[in-house]
Amino acid sequence: MTDLISVNHALSKILSEFNPLPAEEIEISEALFRTLAEDIHSPFDLPLFDNSSVDGFAVCAASDIRAGSRGNFTLPVVGDIPAGIHTSLRLARGEAARIMTGAPLPQGADAVLPVEDTSFPYRDSSAPLPAQVTFFRFPSPGENVRPRGQDVKNGQKLLSRGRKLQPQDIGMLATLGLDRIRVIRKPRIALFSSGDELLTPGIPPQPGKIFDANSYSLGLLALREGAEVIRLGVARDEYQAVKELFEKAKNANADLILSSAGVSVGAFDYVRQVLEEHGEVKIWRVNMRPGKPLTYASYKGLPVISLPGNPVSAFIGFLVFVRPVIARLSGLEPTPPTTLPVILEHPVLSDGRESYLRAIVQKSPQGFFARLTGHQGSGNLYSLVQANALLIIPAGVKSLPAGETVQAWLLDNEPLPVVEKPE
Ligand code: AMP
Ligand code: MG
Repeated sequence: MTDLISVNHALSKILSEFNPLPAEEIEISEALFRTLAEDIHSPFDLPLFDNSSVDGFAVCAASDIRAGSRGNFTLPVVGDIPAGIHTSLRLARGEAARIMTGAPLPQGADAVLPVEDTSFPYRDSSAPLPAQVTFFRFPSPGENVRPRGQDVKNGQKLLSRGRKLQPQDIGMLATLGLDRIRVIRKPRIALFSSGDELLTPGIPPQPGKIFDANSYSLGLLALREGAEVIRLGVARDEYQAVKELFEKAKNANADLILSSAGVSVGAFDYVRQVLEEHGEVKIWRVNMRPGKPLTYASYKGLPVISLPGNPVSAFIGFLVFVRPVIARLSGLEPTPPTTLPVILEHPVLSDGRESYLRAIVQKSPQGFFARLTGHQGSGNLYSLVQANALLIIPAGVKSLPAGETVQAWLLDNEPLPVVEKPE
């Protein structure tokens, strides 16, 4: 097995050949999970102006000796300030103005008493303005005021380039009045499966044939990682058919060609042959299980990752190699999936290759516990469906006893099942 390249070595070699894609400008409503390609500074203070955090009555408290005291105080109401208006009102000591939540404080005012602490308990701005109002206490300076610049200062850096934009970030961009921003272009991935046995779902099964799972699972993994997927279907096991799909991928201006199957040593495995003749095979066969026949190559200068055909091998090969490449192209740090130390519930055997085993991880008061799901054959997709994690058994390890701790990759963002005690 000396000709097998280690997972780490293969990954760093592959990553060294990819750079972040150029930026493009898009609407902020389209920018969810895209990578910001510019630093964002605030063009103004936030809040933009001093405003009220309650429906109530604004007063000048700093210059009023009643500020902060209890008792009944009756004040004339000299103005009405709904949200969304510009007010030129100037408030003098001893006067009150009705004010709504979010409305700008009139000049001179520095505190707001909520309606519920007054003789006028109506929040509705259509309630007729009273000539005077009785306060049941007098507010202190600053009470219920959101001062200008409390959240953000003019010029402050709020979001850095390289950030993967979340809904709250995009709300922030809108708050700054921005409608378009610069983000890294989405990686374009041309995807095809190969094999004479493959049928497209939607028809009855046929003798000797199976349905093409990889076009779906790999295509959706790529979408989940933020790529644009160009679906090229299935190549038959013929040299010309395989070459034709590589040509199509090249003409589609893909950043990466992703194929599955046809890279083992079978008599009809033409993917590798086409790559050898029209490109360069840079990596073939990695010291991992499942997924050994993984191939990294180029086709007429375009990078190609050819995953093994077995659906579980293809899926794991994607997580190990393609996911980091998409991150790198997208201008993100290529990090592994969320990783957790877990305790084995039973002994585990491996063959010495770096192994990725399908498992259920459960959370209990004693920690995280893992057990394998079903038969680990690389064609058995259902054992992956039942799993919520992959246990990573390092290269060189052939067996581990129950109770041993290993690292687990979580397969999705779903909460882990919780148990009182591991079984
Ligand atoms: P190969 O790499 O061509 O030797 O294929 C390995 C195994 O994966 C074979 O059993 C294939 O039938 C199976 N296989 C290949 N491609 C797919 C696919 N797209 N969906 C499901 N199984 C596949
Ligand atoms: Mg095949």
